[in-house]
Amino acid sequence: MGIAWRRARLLERRSQTATARTLVLTAPDWPGHLPGQHVDVRLTADDGYQAVRSYSLAAPADGDRIELGVQAVDGGEVSPYLTDGLPVGAEVEVRGPLGNWFVWRAEQTEPALLVAGGSGVVPLTAMVRAHRAARSRGPLHLLYSVRSPEDVWYRDHLADGDPLLDVRIMYTRQAPPGSVRPPGRITTADLDEATARLKPASPVYVCGPTGFVEAVDNLLIDRGRDPVTIRTERFG
Ligand SMILES: Cc1cc2nc3c(=O)[nH]c(=O)nc-3n(C[C@H](O)[C@H](O)[C@H](O)COP(=O)(O)OP(=O)(O)OC[C@H]3O[C@@H](n4cnc5c(N)ncnc54)[C@H](O)[C@@H]3O)c2cc1C
Repeated sequence: MGIAWRRARLLERRSQTATARTLVLTAPDWPGHLPGQHVDVRLTADDGYQAVRSYSLAAPADGDRIELGVQAVDGGEVSPYLTDGLPVGAEVEVRGPLGNWFVWRAEQTEPALLVAGGSGVVPLTAMVRAHRAARSRGPLHLLYSVRSPEDVWYRDHLADGDPLLDVRIMYTRQAPPGSVRPPGRITTADLDEATARLKPASPVYVCGPTGFVEAVDNLLIDRGRDPVTIRTERFG
């Protein structure tokens, strides 16, 4: 039998960027989840038409509360409704948690590299938050690729001050004034610098649009990284 759908109520919506929102929902009897897992969200129109999309969980397990991070896709059927249409207090259906491979566990003590493209930062932020809450000893290195400074999510969770978290934001179109790195996509040099801090068996988590994930995966393998250490999540 598959995982059952359950009703979830929107408690709060916060802006991350001009087009991305945090959605906090309460899902009664939520069974808990691991950082990296996702849910399916199902919307049902008055005429019975249904649409289902997947969204990663942005926070570690916290009772019945779950947190999603949604980027509005231009012309998209579901995401603009979640970011700007669904009223606070309204219900959707969720099914999960889903995915058992793209997860970080508190007992992992080796260093790990997290590589995010755009909204791919959502499940990786759940890992960062769980890592901090568990006071895990293995350092996390986050490479985060975004178009411009206005597109950075989760500045609160990714701020300086955590000695075991190293965040490097790479801008593809427009970097902040004074940036040493010119705007551009992730390069072999960016990845070499980050993987130099890993052990050969340390896990690398890569998440974002399919093209981004495949490009990073290929660069890592070209540089000799063992494919079994690379875990990927494609947002499509
Ligand atoms: C495991 C998993 C986890 C995901 N987690 C998240 C998450 O945490 N946050 C999040 O915002 N999204 C996430 N997604 C993507 C999400 O499921 C939807 O695909 C996305 O919100 C678009 O849905 P839509 O109905 O608005 O667009 P649709 O109506 O399905 O598509 C409209 C158009 O946009 C294009 N498109 C679809 N998805 C994207 C995209 N991601 N980027 C650019 N163009 C796109 C389509 O090709 C189509 O042309 C995840 C996907 C998967 C598979």
